[in-house]
Amino acid sequence: MANCAIVGVNWGDEGKGRMVDLLTENYDIVVRFQGGGNAGHTVINEMGKFALHLLPSGIFRDGVVNVLGNGVALDPENLWKEMCDVMEKGVAITPDNLKISDRASLLMPWHRDLDELEERRLADKKFGSTKQGIAPFYSDKYQKKTVLAGELFHPERLEAHLKDLMEWKNLILTSVYGAEPYTWDMIREWLDTSCERIKPFVCSTGEYLRDAHNEGRNILFEAQLGSLRDLDYGIHPYTTSSNTLAAYAPVGSGFPGARINDVIGVVKAYSTCVGEGPFVCEMFGEEADRLREAGFEYGAKTGRPRRVGPIDLVATRYGAMMQAATEIALTKLDVLSYMDRIPVCTAYTVGGEETREFPFPAALDEAKPVVEYLDGWKCDISGVREWDDLPREAREYVLFVQREIGVPITYVSVGPERESIIVRK
Ligand code: GDP
Repeated sequence: MANCAIVGVNWGDEGKGRMVDLLTENYDIVVRFQGGGNAGHTVINEMGKFALHLLPSGIFRDGVVNVLGNGVALDPENLWKEMCDVMEKGVAITPDNLKISDRASLLMPWHRDLDELEERRLADKKFGSTKQGIAPFYSDKYQKKTVLAGELFHPERLEAHLKDLMEWKNLILTSVYGAEPYTWDMIREWLDTSCERIKPFVCSTGEYLRDAHNEGRNILFEAQLGSLRDLDYGIHPYTTSSNTLAAYAPVGSGFPGARINDVIGVVKAYSTCVGEGPFVCEMFGEEADRLREAGFEYGAKTGRPRRVGPIDLVATRYGAMMQAATEIALTKLDVLSYMDRIPVCTAYTVGGEETREFPFPAALDEAKPVVEYLDGWKCDISGVREWDDLPREAREYVLFVQREIGVPITYVSVGPERESIIVRK
């Protein structure tokens, strides 16, 4: 019996969704433990192409139970929409294969409004929020000004609690931002529609996970975004508002005593970053456009073009260390096939000194990449399934990255489909 976490090592969008989709075969339960609808996993399998935002990627496998833990930002409205999209394509979602923590806080409609209003106020100093209400949601959670999903089963208490919160929120909406206040009718409608729909799925996921663990079932923890977006250890303040590290998985799932035996850190064969903030290895111009097109690097949630660059081994080493990764899945190697020689960022210079350590966030602005080049392989590798069948230059690239990170690369992904994978163990 073994538990595993699949986590991002970089800025997110590493291809975690495809790794979870592949590996759920070996697990009974898939748990999302943080984040909300602000990012997206893209999963391609025999049922079609799916952009998942909140649903765990195990939703496509028969017999796999999917859990939304207490650490997620539970937006009932958007979750229901996402469930309908997936169900329309023939995937059954019932309280047997989806369980929502009664301790998850509900993302309220006003959280999305406040996100939008604050980004507007910040104008050109904005952080690049996806406007899904995530930052206002987690701020309120820390202030204890949210309601828990389990309160849906205590309607009288819930009404009084929500009325208190609404009164407070309306003060902020009207006096700080000059926006329209909420009325109880608006909240009532939200309760009667969105919340009623997800209510059958709400239960004590902590109890469920502890029992499942005692029965010897295997749990896969699935993270959103990556190390560099972690609220505590990322590129503050250009982080997300939750903890993206494997260490948080037990707390955010409802099973704080869970032991994670294996942490698979997902690393992309080159770098991408969506939104604002320091991105030391960024490429510009034609070189960047070509890589962006080759990797189809546009946000799953927003469609925004992602910033791109060579693999940043300084950030990746740090990211893998913060995740305590025990193995690495290197994705999108096929995307580099067009390059004659492949740039890799092995160090930074900061204040005239070369360093291999990832600097404190405030020092990142002055960091410059040290770039080396490796030979390209210039042929299509998307059909390769065995390590020995990869061209020598491609194997050398993978081994170089492995040496630099210091963690074994056990999976090499060469295409978005479930089977486009080389397993090295
Ligand atoms: P996630 O949030 O970490 O799951 O990442 P995204 O879903 O935003 O980004 C990964 C994208 O790359 C998706 O469109 C995947 O289908 C695609 N993808 C994943 N692995 C590979 C790969 O090895 N090669 C190619 N060409 N595409 C891949």
